[in-house]
Amino acid sequence: MSLKIVVCVKYVPDATGDRGFTEDLTTDRDAVDGLLSELDEYAVEQALRIAENVEDGDDAEVTVVTVGPEDANDALRKALSMGADKAVHVEDEDILGSDVFGTSLVLAKAVEHVGYDLVVCGMASTDGAMGVLPALLAERLQVPQVTLLSELSVAEGKVTGRRDGDAATERLQAALPAVVSVTDQSGEARYPSFKGIMAAKKKPVESLDLEDLEIEAEQVGLAGSRTRVESATPRPARTAGEIVTDEGDGAKKLAAFLAERKFV
Ligand SMILES: Cc1cc2nc3c(=O)[nH]c(=O)nc-3n(C[C@H](O)[C@H](O)[C@H](O)COP(=O)(O)OP(=O)(O)OC[C@H]3O[C@@H](n4cnc5c(N)ncnc54)[C@H](O)[C@@H]3O)c2cc1C
Repeated sequence: MSLKIVVCVKYVPDATGDRGFTEDLTTDRDAVDGLLSELDEYAVEQALRIAENVEDGDDAEVTVVTVGPEDANDALRKALSMGADKAVHVEDEDILGSDVFGTSLVLAKAVEHVGYDLVVCGMASTDGAMGVLPALLAERLQVPQVTLLSELSVAEGKVTGRRDGDAATERLQAALPAVVSVTDQSGEARYPSFKGIMAAKKKPVESLDLEDLEIEAEQVGLAGSRTRVESATPRPARTAGEIVTDEGDGAKKLAAFLAERKFV
């Protein structure tokens, strides 16, 4: 049997850059360089590990999918250089401004287009950070979801994983096909090797638009969004903290500082 794994990877503005919004309060994606969301590197890593450990006689194929602008190709190339087999890039100017409902619709159609046994997502993107896309995707695909896993494996047509919560650790299982999301505790993502980077240049990247996926323009973009950013105010820059020199009264000053802020 060939196990078909699809990984959803997002191209996000670099968090170390000066991020902001455009006039219509959508993310300004041109202001800073973008990159493969670091949290999605964990998803790629887990997909590759599952592919490398399929049962004897089976094989696996890992496809990475992104919905994003032209530059999102960089995110796909990074995932391909880590070891994914092929990529799908959904790009269409009508997608611009889509919220998570629109994005999940596009991703669901793209995943169906590729064909899948297992869809692996990150725990959240590093820009929108809603963490709900995997659940919406599972609902749209009408398959089970097992989210926020810090460990996962696939055997005998089932995905099994561990979710570490504050109060308990759960072991969860779902029959394939299924959607999972993995956390940043799931295992260090590998660095692309030089060989991997060279090989990635030759791996196939399929480009799709809304028409290919039979999605109407009104279903996505700002028009099709059910949520909207009402206002956005930049957070004030951090001010320098007060440095207290201990001249024998350091403890008193510290206690006064805490009392003033009602910490004690
Ligand atoms: C060009 C463009 C413009 C957009 N404009 C807006 C906008 O104006 N307003 C708005 O609300 N949203 C917009 N979006 C969508 C938004 O950026 C998110 O993709 C969407 O809302 C999902 O929310 P999230 O990032 O918080 O996802 P989360 O739920 O935090 O993401 C969880 C996981 O889902 C997967 N995932 C999420 N997004 C994508 C993706 N695009 N491609 C592949 N995998 C993905 C990843 O595996 C990720 O780790 C835009 C998207 C694009 C590509």
